[in-house]
Amino acid sequence: MFILSEFPLPYPTDALTPYISQETIETHHGKHVAGYINNLNNLIENTPYEEMSLVEIIQESAKKTEDKKIFNNAAQIYNHDFFFHGMCPKCTAEIPSEIIKAFGSAENFKKQFKDSAAALFGSGYTWLVRDGDELKIVNTKDADTPIVRNMKPILNLDVWEHAYYLDYKNKRADFIDSFLNDLVDWNFVSENLKN
Ligand code: MN
Repeated sequence: MFILSEFPLPYPTDALTPYISQETIETHHGKHVAGYINNLNNLIENTPYEEMSLVEIIQESAKKTEDKKIFNNAAQIYNHDFFFHGMCPKCTAEIPSEIIKAFGSAENFKKQFKDSAAALFGSGYTWLVRDGDELKIVNTKDADTPIVRNMKPILNLDVWEHAYYLDYKNKRADFIDSFLNDLVDWNFVSENLKN
């Protein structure tokens, strides 16, 4: 049994304005994430999944096509918690030097991340991951998550329409720019690069 307060926002719901409105955060976390938690609780009731951690549920359900609904809801909880923790209000940290080294420049990293996020057709996420020794930008569809593909998540951007439609309507590119230029918590990114 999972509850929303186990996956709290690291800031108040109005903290990311004007880039992401209070209404979007309240709907995204308070309705969408709460819905995934409610669905997951119902799906795992009286199953072996009830005894597992969230990550264990994701890893196990990914192996079984008949447990796709369990995977989808569990992975969405993980992906959203990661996404919300990758942003901060009035962040001042600098982009880590390891990213500049890997992508040539901060501008080049942002361009590649933006191009990837803009090109994602339908719903999904754009991620910076560590894959072996390499830093890579990858897209995942729907609820899919790099942790079932042997990749370590460093940063992600939710590009499901519910993430931006109230604030940006069809202008996903503007949402991506706000994320990269005004919202990313580079301290969170640095911590994920360390371990
Ligand atoms: Mn979302």
